[in-house]
Amino acid sequence: MVSSRIPGLHQLDRMGRLQRLHDAGWLSDADVESLADGRALDSTRADKIIENALGVYALPFGVATNFRINARDYLIPMVIEEPSVVASASHAARIVRAAGGFAASSTGRLMVGQVQLLEVPDLEAAEREIRLHGDALIGLANDAHPAMVRRGGGARGVEVHHVLADDGEEMLVLHLLVDTRDAMGANTINTMVEAVAPAAEILSGGRACLRILSNYTDHCLAGASCTIAADLLTSGDYDGRQVVDGIVAAGRLAEADLHRAVTHNKGVMNGVDAVLIATGNDWRAIEAAAHAYASRSGRYRSMTAWRKDEAGNLVGNLELPMPVGLVGGSIGLNPGTRVAHALLGLSRAEELAQVVVAVGLAQNLGALKALVTHGIQRGHMALQARSVALLAGAPSAEVDRVAKELVKRGDITVAGARELLAGPA
Ligand code: NAD
Repeated sequence: MVSSRIPGLHQLDRMGRLQRLHDAGWLSDADVESLADGRALDSTRADKIIENALGVYALPFGVATNFRINARDYLIPMVIEEPSVVASASHAARIVRAAGGFAASSTGRLMVGQVQLLEVPDLEAAEREIRLHGDALIGLANDAHPAMVRRGGGARGVEVHHVLADDGEEMLVLHLLVDTRDAMGANTINTMVEAVAPAAEILSGGRACLRILSNYTDHCLAGASCTIAADLLTSGDYDGRQVVDGIVAAGRLAEADLHRAVTHNKGVMNGVDAVLIATGNDWRAIEAAAHAYASRSGRYRSMTAWRKDEAGNLVGNLELPMPVGLVGGSIGLNPGTRVAHALLGLSRAEELAQVVVAVGLAQNLGALKALVTHGIQRGHMALQARSVALLAGAPSAEVDRVAKELVKRGDITVAGARELLAGPA
C-alpha cells in the first residue's frame, strides 16, 4: 500500500509536488502531464456539455494527505477555492491516522424514483392494485433500462405513499426503488419512472403528474467514525482533554442551535463538496440530501455527533446520504476528474461514498479543533494572505514573500499588500 502520509508536501513547489507524488506511485506519467500543463476541460468540449457555453471556469485542484480509511491509505483530490480547506483536512486526517484511521461503512445503493398520482378516485383501492402488481411494474422499469439489469442493478421494489398536500388534498406517490450500481442514476431512474407511469395510471385510476427521481436518498447512506485518544489532540498550550471537552461542547451547541448548526454543517460540506467536484459528481444533489437528512428529526441539527467515551477518547460520527457515481453524467468528460479517479483508485461507488463521508468528518474535526483552541482566524488568515497578495496584484514570484510579511505585520488586507508591493514611498 502506498502511504498517504507525505511529510512536507505543502512546502514543495507545484512541480516538486507532482514529482513527489509520481515517485511515490500516486500519479502516472499521463496524470503528471495533465496536471503540469493545467490541462482543463477544453472549451470545444464544454460547448457540447451545456447550452450557451462561453468558455471554461477553472478552480484549484489539490490533494489532502494522511487519510486512512478502513485500513487503506487515500490521497484525497479536492477542488476548492477556499484557502484553508485542504490544509485543515490533512491536519485532522493526520490526527485520526495516529488513532488508527477512520472506520467507514454504507447501507447499500438503493435510489428512489417518484410517480405523483393525482385525481385517484379511491386511494386505498389504488394502493392495493399497485402493490398487487408490484412485480409487473418492476419488470416495466427494468425493460426500460436493460443495461442496468445486465450490470446486476435495476428496479428492486415498489412502495406506495399517501401524501397530504397543504390544501388538504391527499395524493398517492409511487416510489420505485432502484439499484443504480456505480452510477448516481438520475437519468436511469427518470427513464424508469416515465416507463412505469402509464401502468400506474391504469392501476390507480388517477393521472400521473411528476415522474422523477428523489434526491432524498435515505436508502443510500454512508457513515464514518473515528475514536481519538485525548493526548493526540494536545495543541500548543491546550491539553488534549481540554480539546476533547471543547469539541464535545461545540457539538452540543450545533445539535441544539440553528445558527451554529448551519455553520457547523457548512464546514462538513467544505470537505464533501471539494471531493464531489473533483470526482465529477452532482454536488447540488448531495448538498440537498445532506441538509434534508440533517432535518430528519423535524429540526435542523448538526450532521456530525461528537462524544467523549468512558476512557476520555473523543468519538466522532457522521452519516449522510451519499448517492455518488463513479460513472455517468459528465464524469468522464473532464481531464481533472480522470486524475481524481486515478488518485482514489476506486472500483465501487460505495467506496467513494465512504471516502467522501470520512473527509466530511475530518473537515469538521479540523474546524472544531481550531475553534476550541486558538480560534479559526490564525491558520485561515495565514493561508488567506496569499489570495490577498494575488488580489493586490502581486506577481506569482512575489506572492509568498508578500503573504509572509502580511502575516508578520498582522494586517492581512489588500491595502496592506498594495503598500508592500509599492515598496518604500
Ligand atoms: P447516465 O445517464 O450517464 O447513466 C449512467 C450510464 O452508465 C448508464 O447508461 C449505465 O448503463 C452506464 N454504466 C456503465 N457502467 C456502469 C456501472 N458500473 N454502474 C452503473 N451504470 C454503469 O448517468 P446517471 O447516473 O443516470 O445520471 C446522472 C446525471 O443526471 C448527473 O449528471 C446529474 O446531474 C443528472 N441529473 C440529476 C437530476 C437530479 O439530481 N434531480 C435530474 C436529472 C439529471
